[in-house]
Amino acid sequence: MDDSSRPTAPHSKERVSYFYNLQASTESYGEGHPMKPARLGLTHELVIGYGLHNYMNIYTPWPASTTQIEAFHSTDYVDALKRVTPNNYDKMAASIKRFGLGEDDCPVFSDMWDYFRMSCGGSIMAANYLGSGASDMAINWMGGLHHAKKSVASGFCYTNDIVLGILELLRYYQRVLYIDLDVHHGDGVQDAFYGSNRVMTLSIHAYDGAFFPGTGSLDESGIGRGKNYAVNVPLQMGIDDASYHWIFKEVARNVIDKFQPSAIVLQCGADSLAGDRLGSFNVSIKGHGECVRFIKSFGIPTMVLGGGGYTIRNVARCWAYETSVCCGVTVPNELPETVSYDYYGPDFVLHPNLTSPDRYSPNTRASLEKIRHRIVEQLRHVESAPSVQIHQIPPSFAQFNHLDGEWAVDFREDVQPDHRLRAEEFPVHRWKNSKTVDDNEFYDPF
Ligand SMILES: [Zn+2]
Repeated sequence: MDDSSRPTAPHSKERVSYFYNLQASTESYGEGHPMKPARLGLTHELVIGYGLHNYMNIYTPWPASTTQIEAFHSTDYVDALKRVTPNNYDKMAASIKRFGLGEDDCPVFSDMWDYFRMSCGGSIMAANYLGSGASDMAINWMGGLHHAKKSVASGFCYTNDIVLGILELLRYYQRVLYIDLDVHHGDGVQDAFYGSNRVMTLSIHAYDGAFFPGTGSLDESGIGRGKNYAVNVPLQMGIDDASYHWIFKEVARNVIDKFQPSAIVLQCGADSLAGDRLGSFNVSIKGHGECVRFIKSFGIPTMVLGGGGYTIRNVARCWAYETSVCCGVTVPNELPETVSYDYYGPDFVLHPNLTSPDRYSPNTRASLEKIRHRIVEQLRHVESAPSVQIHQIPPSFAQFNHLDGEWAVDFREDVQPDHRLRAEEFPVHRWKNSKTVDDNEFYDPF
């Protein structure tokens, strides 16, 4: 099947789909944990308060099934995720330690299997809507959990909805570009497709060799068939809107021109905003949203996902604003009067002053030019628009439960199995999340 015939709507008339389970925002990683699913509910309140439901279709996605999640994750890991609870954790602790479950970053919490099924279900369904031509942009703020590995939970991420969403897109599209705006490197997605030339990964993030997860240097560029199809933009702390936009647009434009993706997955981790509890950049909400607007302007079917974000009133502001950008709607700066209105004081606006104009940033124009130059050199070695024949669309995840037998086509070949990676080819230097703030600073009324 030639995906060039797949419909893409004019920019002003995107058909936008939005996937959200109301139950997701009621879950909790536990008291004091910086990852707060309540931010999803806050986002949804603002989205509805601004009337954005009038400009898109809102769906409650099916939670992903075990079979769907095992398209990427190993059976023994999924089995542990399903079985462990806070009540039986003590008995299971020793046997699940190897999966990273029960660590500080990834505690065992009630209903966590249900929670991650919702996150994955949203991204899989978003991919279905894009791939079938039903939507031009598909939003899942429950998704974007980019650190999860095949058999290991990491950095608050237990299942990798992004990998599952991309696998679903590969049923329809020849080439998928993954773009990661989170302040942390998108290591789980990069690792999954490190040997594939059908998925290009582009991550722009803070990098100093120690900042979590410790990977994402310019030197990490892929292996084998995927050599040069992983692109990293490592930045120093404190980067402002102007510098962030310049390097992001330069690199993204070059990558899109060269790779010619037929679909894009955009992870919008909001911990790259100024004032984030774990992040370190000096980027505004408008600045963050400008990256979404820029990618949308290419008119390529795009999945828009959440990710990190730990000052949750700003996460909600940012993702509500980016929903409006996807819908092509201008919303007022004054926030709508939602049930959580008081939480947005003292300014009660969508775009509060988060950035510090005088903050020092070592990201000089010369250092950014150097990064741009290295990446342009790397892209010279990328085969322009590599293609594969897609003769038959294999059954979708959504349909799979209703089918007997095996997959018609095993499209999972694009996922790099762990055992094929040689140690020296694999990104190394992983550190535990170094806490930059004390536990009591994580306090949040939600
Ligand atoms: Zn992050």
